[in-house]
Amino acid sequence: MKKIIFATTNENKVREVRMMMDGLDVELCTMKEAGVDVDIVEDGTTFEENAIIKAKTIMEITGEIAIADDSGLEVDYLDGAPGIYSARFLGEDTSYDIKNNYIIEKLKDAKGKERSARFVCAMAVAFPNGENFRPVKGRKLKVLITYEQKGTNGFGYDPIVYVPEFEMTTGEMTPELKNSISHRGKALEQMKEILKGKL
Ligand code: IMP
Repeated sequence: MKKIIFATTNENKVREVRMMMDGLDVELCTMKEAGVDVDIVEDGTTFEENAIIKAKTIMEITGEIAIADDSGLEVDYLDGAPGIYSARFLGEDTSYDIKNNYIIEKLKDAKGKERSARFVCAMAVAFPNGENFRPVKGRKLKVLITYEQKGTNGFGYDPIVYVPEFEMTTGEMTPELKNSISHRGKALEQMKEILKGKL
């Protein structure tokens, strides 16, 4: 079984990705499990760049294959914010209750399609032999920002992310349903194809 380090400290991402690793003979380890405690400086200007930075940093430290996810929410009414700054929006330690209510308040005059947004996820893999792949990108999950927070599943911005097709927020979805349609689920499907050919 091949060991792969998931270059994240976000337990929610780990939970979702672990659920979707079926079909691959892989032991997915978190940075914590690999004994890595490092603050990665995400100074890329795109999701893809940041995903590469994270995967390469952890591969170089551990000498193992590393994968990374850089993701976020782009709100059209806010000119694409918080985007690549989704985790740092209003401060890294600010609760998502506050971040979500802030976005709802900012959109108080936005009606209908003006509330459009999307979840984006780029995933990168770094191999110890230096082999490079273009990062994969999750098909953007098109959503609308809700007028109030709904749902206690998921994490982060999930309670304000309404998926019209399912008439619920990603915070109201079961993990299985969210994974089957999400930006992360779509990116991971492509990443699994890359990994399958390489392990
Ligand atoms: P990253 O760790 O720099 O990629 O930050 C990603 C951030 O985007 C997370 O901390 C969340 O704020 C947000 N985000 C990404 N994916 C999701 C999701 O599936 N649900 C809710 N929020 C998400």
